[in-house]
Amino acid sequence: MTAPELECCKCHAPMHPGYLLEEGHANERSITAWVEGQPQKSFWMGLKTPREKLATRTYRCTGCGYLESYAPAPAA
Ligand SMILES: [Zn+2]
Repeated sequence: MTAPELECCKCHAPMHPGYLLEEGHANERSITAWVEGQPQKSFWMGLKTPREKLATRTYRCTGCGYLESYAPAPAA
């Protein structure tokens, strides 16, 4: 079973799934996570490591380039 195709809320073109890439130290790659609340600054790390974070999925409109992100709750 395939997921239903999403439609752009701006221009109604189809949206394709993807993700937002983070390139950290030494080009280490990861997917952008969603964190609840305000960012907390850390002297050493830039930002404090959050206790809870959710993996994100981002869809991109093939027409206008609009991005729409989802952070579903982890499976129990
Ligand atoms: Zn669009």
